[in-house]
Amino acid sequence: MDKSADKELVQEYFNTTGFERWRKIYSDTEKVSKVQQDIREGHQRTVDQVLYWLKYKGRVEGTTVCDAGCGVGSLSIPLAKMGAKVFASDISEKMIHEAKERIGSADNPVFAVSDLESITGSYDVVVCLDVLIHYPTEQALAMLTHLAKLAKTRLIISFAPKNWFYDLLKKIGSLFPGASKTTRAYLHQENVLKRRLHSLGFQVARSELIASQFYFALIFDAIRTA
Ligand code: SAH
Repeated sequence: MDKSADKELVQEYFNTTGFERWRKIYSDTEKVSKVQQDIREGHQRTVDQVLYWLKYKGRVEGTTVCDAGCGVGSLSIPLAKMGAKVFASDISEKMIHEAKERIGSADNPVFAVSDLESITGSYDVVVCLDVLIHYPTEQALAMLTHLAKLAKTRLIISFAPKNWFYDLLKKIGSLFPGASKTTRAYLHQENVLKRRLHSLGFQVARSELIASQFYFALIFDAIRTA
């Protein structure tokens, strides 16, 4: 499949069935299934971990943050409330519409429809959570390369790590609930992403694995060193 085909499928998914599924998961009031509840809690732990790093291993107030593939604003909205100036974008119009609804008349974050390869500008911190799982490693690496150019001091990403254990779970189908409910999930090797970040002038200062029954993400906090 060529690159743009992958992207179009992902975009289509997050404007239709994917939007309905994830809008519910990324809310705390909507009723969801047990599996979805597990994913909701796992994702919330990822968001909380990132907020924690930004708060205690740095400064939030007054910093500029770009949230690439922001979804409904699960990270961006609390971050803006903590005093960061947030630019958040997503390839899905539906997601951005929902995110805007959630902030009402507030003007921070600024939400925009855009794929992450088209984001321009320069931000203290660039964050990209749970997006890379939708792309093959080659494309994920190209995305990192683009995001790194936008990040002045720090790049925080999450992805599903590829190792024998998760490979096995994926094969026996117990990790991802029903292929029809989601897009293909791509796992990435930790070291491959680390090496790319390194060559882009970033060092992974800390990482955290968030794992539950149906959700797993490895989060990297990469700091610019060059
Ligand atoms: N980062 C958010 C949302 C994760 S869901 C959070 O953690 O809460 C993945 C999101 O990535 C979806 O909203 C999807 O529309 C978006 N996405 C997928 N491919 C993208 C791309 N190429 N550019 C921008 N956004 C993308």
